[in-house]
Amino acid sequence: MSAPSTVLVTGGGGFIGSHTCVELLDHGYEVIVVDNYSNSSSQVFARVERVAGRFVGAVYDLDIRDRHALSAVFDRHTVDAVLHFAGLKSASGSLRRPVDYYDVNVGGTMALLGAMHSHGVHQLVYSSSCSVYGAAGPGPIREDAPTRPGHPYAQSKWICEQILADLCRRHPEYSVLCMRYFNPAGAHPSGLLGEDPRGTPDNLMPYLAQVAVGRHPRLSVRGGDYPTRDGTAVRDYLHVMDCVEAYRTALDHLADRTGLQVFNLARGKGSSVLDVVDTFSRACGRQVPYEVEQRRPGDVAELVADVSAADRAWGWRPTRDLADMCRDSWRFQQLNPLGYAGSARRQKPSG
Ligand code: NAD
Repeated sequence: MSAPSTVLVTGGGGFIGSHTCVELLDHGYEVIVVDNYSNSSSQVFARVERVAGRFVGAVYDLDIRDRHALSAVFDRHTVDAVLHFAGLKSASGSLRRPVDYYDVNVGGTMALLGAMHSHGVHQLVYSSSCSVYGAAGPGPIREDAPTRPGHPYAQSKWICEQILADLCRRHPEYSVLCMRYFNPAGAHPSGLLGEDPRGTPDNLMPYLAQVAVGRHPRLSVRGGDYPTRDGTAVRDYLHVMDCVEAYRTALDHLADRTGLQVFNLARGKGSSVLDVVDTFSRACGRQVPYEVEQRRPGDVAELVADVSAADRAWGWRPTRDLADMCRDSWRFQQLNPLGYAGSARRQKPSG
């Protein structure tokens, strides 16, 4: 199998996808994007191209569940590998709309696999989630820890992982990486790219940034009675730039072996919600207001990764800390108080 050079990025307009596009362009890959902008904006690509100094090869506005449209993308481009980010990602949203989550996350992945298979594309990096571990208990979680998905979002990711395992068992020509992200946060250091979800953010750091810039009165800390150091939930935050460097390094190595491999992507360090509030408050120069409320259904006390497998596999180690994430996230929010709204669109014709 040859190393991939043209990469299809599903969900390339989103938080991790857009930063990944820059990283891939910076490293000489040809990038093709599909996104339906259900949680992003097409305006991000003018910025991706400005930061990278190169054009994205093509951008298609389509829903990955549209098998016909997706297949046409594969007909039109010789795709070597796929990075699959497109999906719905809110745990609480999945409790409200479970069927939508299975439809987009599982149905969308099935449509993608169908298009890949019929076009002979056998290299895939799949975006999974630490939520597949569920209530794993304290201490660093290794990839072989038992899985206990506690809500439909986590379950949808776990189902896809199992589908991919079956695919690789039956078709040994496939090379698939499942990346179990913990909590990607931060932004590109340029201040041009960051996390700009539609509606109210479900993740802590973009919500904090929007409170700090005055878009919300205060942060709701969901749960102050967990069995953790300060009672708030502990998570493993990873700078999005470390995350996408890991992704690109993994892609460089994707052709080295076939079969399914699973990796945690995290820093291996836990921070409580209040640690993040304190660090963010220092970054923006004032205390960000918050109040402690009831726990969110499906949430767990602590999720911290063992990250040694990624280090062993690719020599990858994160280099940025929580202060870096808060500083970069704040820079993006300060420079773009309303996110990408109103910013210039890319000039190159789409698709
Ligand atoms: P995001 O919501 O910013 O990006 C997802 C992108 O997919 C968006 O641009 C959205 O418009 C697009 N999309 C959604 N449904 C689509 C569809 N049916 N067809 C085409 N495009 C569609 O999310 P993100 O933070 O960049 O996360 C990327 C992936 O990583 C997701 O699969 C998510 O589940 C996973 N993940 C993220 C986190 C996190 O904290 N950010 C943690 C664990 C796993």
